[in-house]
Amino acid sequence: MQQNSPVLVIHAGAGPISPEHYARNRPGVGDVLAKVAPRLASGAPAMEAVELAVRMLEDDPRFNAGIGSSLRLDGSIRFDASIMDGSELKGAGIAAVRGVPNPISLARLVLERTPHVLLAGENAAEFAVDCGIDLLPDNYFITEERRKLWEKKLMAGETPGDQVYSSGGTVGAVALDRQGRLAAGTSTGGLIMSMAGRVGDSPILGAGTYADDVAAASCTGVGESIMRILMAKTASDYVRQGMSAQEASSEVVKLQKEKTPGTSGLILLSAEGGIGIAFNSLAMNRGYWTESEGVIVPE
Ligand code: ASP
Repeated sequence: MQQNSPVLVIHAGAGPISPEHYARNRPGVGDVLAKVAPRLASGAPAMEAVELAVRMLEDDPRFNAGIGSSLRLDGSIRFDASIMDGSELKGAGIAAVRGVPNPISLARLVLERTPHVLLAGENAAEFAVDCGIDLLPDNYFITEERRKLWEKKLMAGETPGDQVYSSGGTVGAVALDRQGRLAAGTSTGGLIMSMAGRVGDSPILGAGTYADDVAAASCTGVGESIMRILMAKTASDYVRQGMSAQEASSEVVKLQKEKTPGTSGLILLSAEGGIGIAFNSLAMNRGYWTESEGVIVPE
């Protein structure tokens, strides 16, 4: 059996993140890498590593996914997430779903138990219940910090039309396992103050998440911009055309900036284990693990 050196890369959102905010969220990224890396090292599949990493980030209230999700204009929260297995070219997403403790795991259930690629809204929540998941009220996921930010923006009269940036905190992971399989996953509470019913790039294969036989990508930033250039798939195509993972990442965020408004970032992993990380926002929490370097989380 083919034996690759496994790699794990994660991000916790691109946006107008202050140095203080970056420093506060940095340990959360390191913890996840340190906990998931041993699993990959001992031969766990890339899909398992991605799901576990994203679940841990969803459970961390510092990030905009699961607990700690951004509030929409009407004060409610809904989740978007997707996961993709590059070795099978199979993936699935869930969009605008309420109450699910770990949206990434629901996306994986859609992949494994339905013939579909995307489930949305109330019916996706019903599917979660059918799968034995207990739905929780919005209040369970809303942190004091997110509520205060929402109140501030509401008082200032901000509307969805003012959304030219993502506030940061969306999460994602890409992994390469010992068998050479790639996987990618992304999860978010979406953009703060967005219209009820709005869906971003995160649950859309090819836009927010993509994995095939050459690369795996997870994107973050303004979904409306990311979707218009199918950022994750475009990055993978760049690798197929011969770019390194880092070149492809830099090129695709450049393309986003040239063609669409807003800011973005992504993590990208090639089948050779090449890592690409790029963003055109102020900052993006991110980090990676390789067997030779261990856990690296930039200062
Ligand atoms: N891309 C996400 C969305 O548009 C938000 C983010 O990454 O911050 O829903």
